[in-house]
Amino acid sequence: MLDHSGNIAPDDFVPNAEYQASRKQRVSLGKSVDRRRTVANLFFLVFLAVVIAWIGWHRGRAPAGLFAIHGSSMAPTLLGEHHVVGCVACGLDWPVTMSGDESPIYCFHCGKQVQVSERIHAASRVILNEKLAVTTDVLRPGDVVALRGESMLRVKRIAAVPGDTIELDGAYLIVNGKSVVQRMGREQQLTLPLPILPFELDHRRSQSRWSGKSWRRSHQRIWESSDASWLVYHHRSIHQQNQSSVVWDDYPCNVDVDRKLQLANRFVLTAEVACQGEALLEVAFWLNQQPCAVVQRVTVESNLVVSSDDATVMSLGPVAGEYPVAIRVLEGSVHLSRLVVARQIEYRLRPQDDRTLYPIQLGRGEYFVLGDNVPVSVDSRDFGVISSDSIKGSVELFQSP
Ligand SMILES: [Zn+2]
Repeated sequence: MLDHSGNIAPDDFVPNAEYQASRKQRVSLGKSVDRRRTVANLFFLVFLAVVIAWIGWHRGRAPAGLFAIHGSSMAPTLLGEHHVVGCVACGLDWPVTMSGDESPIYCFHCGKQVQVSERIHAASRVILNEKLAVTTDVLRPGDVVALRGESMLRVKRIAAVPGDTIELDGAYLIVNGKSVVQRMGREQQLTLPLPILPFELDHRRSQSRWSGKSWRRSHQRIWESSDASWLVYHHRSIHQQNQSSVVWDDYPCNVDVDRKLQLANRFVLTAEVACQGEALLEVAFWLNQQPCAVVQRVTVESNLVVSSDDATVMSLGPVAGEYPVAIRVLEGSVHLSRLVVARQIEYRLRPQDDRTLYPIQLGRGEYFVLGDNVPVSVDSRDFGVISSDSIKGSVELFQSP
């Protein structure tokens, strides 16, 4: 009898006399050996079952629909393959999309020429949940979805859902009377939070762009004031030899992309605050050509985060286009450090977009989608409303275990 390998199998043996004589003894010994073998085999089988179960569980957890991002439409939330540039003077580095030409790149913060990493950094990876393709009614504004395209999937963020009305307020997209961001709800609680783009980091500058009559900055770059005068930020543009400038909606990652910039109108100021007991701070922003302010109470040691979304119009303020943010102490004594001003995302039309298409009322199964890289994204501003049939599923960021 041949086994599968062609060798003689054990049941081809013929027992001889010696074998017959010793068989009885071996049978007796064999019983005890067999018992041990049975227990060992049992342990082995249990071990094997555990290993197989673990492999199955692990494979079940491994994402089936794993995709790499291509292009910069959703940057900086999701990035395609990119380079990283670094500014020695500021100690900052950030991703940039590049076509490979040799033109110099300048630091968005100080304007000095920066170094480009040789290495190409990997694209963001996302998991596609296709189950949602058949139940699109669970999709909400702010969700990120993959759309069927001719050669590859497009990844965009849902701005409006069936039944919504999209109108314009100047160039801004308004959904049901609210900004797109307000329509999305609590933006930091989204599966993929909206990006924030810092453009001023005081602790990275030896010479500050903030100044105020009775404000003093220590060698440790900590600000202190003896009265309620304003500490005002003076913006300068690296594209205009660091001369006074209004703030544009530039994305540092877009160095190699043609884009038209528009005025920024949504800011956030963050700082580290140290005070004795409590203090009252007022922050002013220049929004839509008028001064607005928000008052915030702080305690002992806290991180100050003030969004211009919470500011209301004030009659007279220290702010203007080139001085877009200011802060003062109304009550208490405060030390401020690590002042950072950032732009918050603004969804709006670009100069080339067709305004006559609006307002748009979304019918059953219709969605309006946008990319987070507002100046350059190709989205519903270009190809119009999409139908639920073109949504392949929702998308979330894949983080390697
Ligand atoms: Zn720099």
